[in-house]
Amino acid sequence: MKRRIYGIETEYGLLIKEEDFKYGPIDVAVRVKNHIFDKKQGVLDLHYRANDEPPGNGGFLVNGGRVYLDMGHLEYASPECSNLTDLVTFDRAGDMVVQEALEDLGWSDQVAFIKNNVDLETNATFGCHENYLVSRAFQFDNRENLRLLASFLVTRQIYAGAGRTGACNPQPFRDWDDIHQAKKDTEEVNFQLSQRADHIPNEFYRWVQYNRAIVNTRDEPLSDPSKYRRIHLLVGDSNMSEFATALKMGTTSLIMELIELGVANPDWILADSVAAMRSISRDQDFKWDIQMRDGNQSTALELQREMWKAAKEHLAGKSADADWVIEAWGSVLDDLPKGPEHLIGRVDWAAKYWLLTEFMETENLGWKDPWVKSLDLEFHNLNRNVGLYWGLEETGDANRKTTDAAIEHAKHNPPRGTRADGRGELVKRLVESQTGYLIDWIGFRLNKEEPFLMLDPFVSYKKDIKEYLERMDLQQPFDRDSFFR
Ligand code: ATP
Ligand code: MG
Ligand code: MG
Repeated sequence: MKRRIYGIETEYGLLIKEEDFKYGPIDVAVRVKNHIFDKKQGVLDLHYRANDEPPGNGGFLVNGGRVYLDMGHLEYASPECSNLTDLVTFDRAGDMVVQEALEDLGWSDQVAFIKNNVDLETNATFGCHENYLVSRAFQFDNRENLRLLASFLVTRQIYAGAGRTGACNPQPFRDWDDIHQAKKDTEEVNFQLSQRADHIPNEFYRWVQYNRAIVNTRDEPLSDPSKYRRIHLLVGDSNMSEFATALKMGTTSLIMELIELGVANPDWILADSVAAMRSISRDQDFKWDIQMRDGNQSTALELQREMWKAAKEHLAGKSADADWVIEAWGSVLDDLPKGPEHLIGRVDWAAKYWLLTEFMETENLGWKDPWVKSLDLEFHNLNRNVGLYWGLEETGDANRKTTDAAIEHAKHNPPRGTRADGRGELVKRLVESQTGYLIDWIGFRLNKEEPFLMLDPFVSYKKDIKEYLERMDLQQPFDRDSFFR
């Protein structure tokens, strides 16, 4: 597998469980965020960031990641990771950081962080962003590349989806002509594979906030733009299963590599990827039929099998991660036809489906029962005492990719092998200092010094940053007027 940089951003859902709780969700998110920085797990931004986040809206952490508020949601953006185990470890470290802050504040019985992507009451959706570094040679102008990627992303939900009860009716429309279509959407949906499928109206789009797309083509490489591109995806669900997170991003990375090598097969392109995203997600019989651009009929499982074969042929033996992904991907594709109960601990939608159907049978409930809906949310609750997913870890049924000890370490230390290592060093020093600073993914500035650029995410910069900090007077008090003049 090619060297990659990976990052995951997680926006957490926030559920206030106690009626008349003293704070509303936005207030809770702000207080949790402040507590994380009061605890010196990171340093708050002193100034507006490029995208107009106000000072104090968030900041970088000692592990090289970032916590901030995004449209009222608390978000953790993992540091740049160079392999799948680190990626899973640092994703989970973020979950721990926010959950522990809630516990410190004494609110964990009244408030819950829900690592999912849809508010089942309002149908508001919030994201899990996947970030992949590819070479600049991965052409976005070449729509065939993007269509191939879309075909993969639409069909990977059969193992990457986190599952949800119900649907968002009417679906958000794709363009003005579709408004009528959307209004006609009265399809009965008990359960679907993907949390996001009802909310993705486009195939490609640059400005994602109000117009989510399968492939977001916004060009913000967060690195040297002459060498690299960051592919930034919003189509996926947040996963509880470590295996699912690693499989989702590992398979996606392999497909990007097949596209970069020019060996992805144009026969894989779907007739209509947006429609397929929904029909696969909503298929109550798990048949997952799809229509190909060339007129052929297939299924999501068959198409994934073709992609898997190509990955095996071209990428087996290239790295430990590639071999893990090929093995894990093949095993899941083998087991999907056997039914959801064969995928518990590896595929989130399957585990959720199994838990909910068992429960409904025991209690004699239907899919629309509010109790079932609330268990859907509880599957994603980060609180280990009540969250349903954690039961699978306790019984040893969860297929893990990291360890509790590694996650604990990742709360306080950056990953090795990327520039997050140097950034973590910097933030650790800044939490103890008085000095003024500006930090971003691609570098930082202290006082009125020249900026220190970190354009190559594969370089740790740690030694250089240590030497640089030796030369600085970090106890010089921060003076806002002179700093920003
Ligand atoms: P938004 O929140 O509006 O989507 P964004 O995705 O540009 O903005 P952040 O929320 O700050 O910004 O998250 C950036 C993510 O990208 C992090 O998870 C980080 O680890 C990852 N990342 C940073 N640089 C690179 C890179 N060069 N290639 C791939 N991923 C990167
Ligand atoms: Mg973000
Ligand atoms: Mg993002």
